[in-house]
Amino acid sequence: MTITVNNGAEQSEGVFDSFECAIEALAPRCAHCGCRVIGHGVESSGTVYCCAHCARESGASGVADNAGATAAIDHLTGEQGFR
Ligand SMILES: [Zn+2]
Repeated sequence: MTITVNNGAEQSEGVFDSFECAIEALAPRCAHCGCRVIGHGVESSGTVYCCAHCARESGASGVADNAGATAAIDHLTGEQGFR
């Protein structure tokens, strides 16, 4: 089995023999706790976090995990959250 990933950026293309290797090579790290962000994550002011808690701990406001009210928060604040 091989896994080819291409998201349009030259630096983010590769062929891997497992999901684990692709994640290690390509997934961003949370700016607060350092874990790999393999889901949607939360982005605030261009910084990626694994969850809203980490984003808030780092000073971001107006972020929430995907618990139902996210779409309204996104429209009011312009913050990018879960889709
Ligand atoms: Zn985190």
